[in-house]
Amino acid sequence: MPSLKIESVQTFLTQPRGARLVVVKVTTSEPGLYGLGCATFTQRHLAVQAAIDHHIGPFVVGLDPRNIEDIWQGAMVNGYWRNGPVLNNAISGVDMALWDIKGKLAGMPCYQLWGGKCRAAAAVYVHCGGTSPEAVADDARARIEQGFTHIRCQLGGYVGVETGGIVPPPGAPEGAYFDPRERLRRLPPLFDYLRSELGDHVELLNDVHERLAPTDAVWLAKALEPYRLFFLEDILAPEDLEWFENIRNVCATPIAMGELFNHPREITPLVARRLIDFVRVHISQIGGITPALKLAHLCEAFGVRFAWHGPGDVSPVGVAAAAHIDVACRNFGVQEWSFPNQATTDMFPGMPEASNGYVCPNDQPGLGIDFDEQLAAKFPCDRANPTWTVARLPDGTLWRP
Ligand code: MG
Repeated sequence: MPSLKIESVQTFLTQPRGARLVVVKVTTSEPGLYGLGCATFTQRHLAVQAAIDHHIGPFVVGLDPRNIEDIWQGAMVNGYWRNGPVLNNAISGVDMALWDIKGKLAGMPCYQLWGGKCRAAAAVYVHCGGTSPEAVADDARARIEQGFTHIRCQLGGYVGVETGGIVPPPGAPEGAYFDPRERLRRLPPLFDYLRSELGDHVELLNDVHERLAPTDAVWLAKALEPYRLFFLEDILAPEDLEWFENIRNVCATPIAMGELFNHPREITPLVARRLIDFVRVHISQIGGITPALKLAHLCEAFGVRFAWHGPGDVSPVGVAAAAHIDVACRNFGVQEWSFPNQATTDMFPGMPEASNGYVCPNDQPGLGIDFDEQLAAKFPCDRANPTWTVARLPDGTLWRP
């Protein structure tokens, strides 16, 4: 195929369940040859759409879609100022679509382009929770019976309203109130109970969601060490990265970090200094498959594994991209998994499924996933502002979520 050009870049917004998804379709001059990408920044979906439609799309139309590296670099610097969640997600939408096209051109699934499989399938971790240790254990037992081996256990609300009973002072603003000190009191007994009930052979995880003061984070990592977590997730905010050294110095609890990261300078010092065990970025947030592959290989050189962010605010196209990297790169750790609803499964034929504790991409060329545009149009996005990100301490202080 001597000549091949990008003909169009289309952005689709859809909301088949809670999260607003941003899906990108790149068409080419070859009839029927197109690719799909994930550009999902669910809280700012319209900004990403504008970045693609007005800037990234026009920049790449007419270019040869086979030159992925050059297009990625050009899209990143064409606006001079670079990085940031909106731009990175917009670039990711195109970047994933170009890898999808590359695989279709080669007649190979993407994982074959990156060296082939080095594992049969990728283990997933699933979310369990409850308002009491007994309820958390029951929820975990149900998943263990389904074959899942890695269980993230949260007491109460996912992002912190764990205990109820918070009475803010009069006049305090609305918000997602939480009590970080109560979390410290409750988490070690929770994992003590889970270990006694579930035994030693299940991998347990917990997500702190950056909702602790730094010294409290150090204390928690140390306090949970006896329960041998698979990892403790996002224990510090990106503004507090220097504190990881303190955690390393006092305990061997494995640390996973990074779902808020979008700049290489946030990630590479932690990897190079071996201050974390798992990097767990949101792939579209760092700019797509191209930087994710580089990051995975960088991490391998330093003994750090990867565990891509994978909740409902990653589109199934992004889930497929993660699954292809998961089976192709040696230093895979675990894949976060969120179960899709029926509308999502119908909208994205070929999306990877998790069964018996594992996910595996299919063997179709490219990312192996398609997108039903007509069905997507039946699930328009809402305009609601997120409320869970308005996190507040008991006295009403706004906390970074
Ligand atoms: Mg998380």
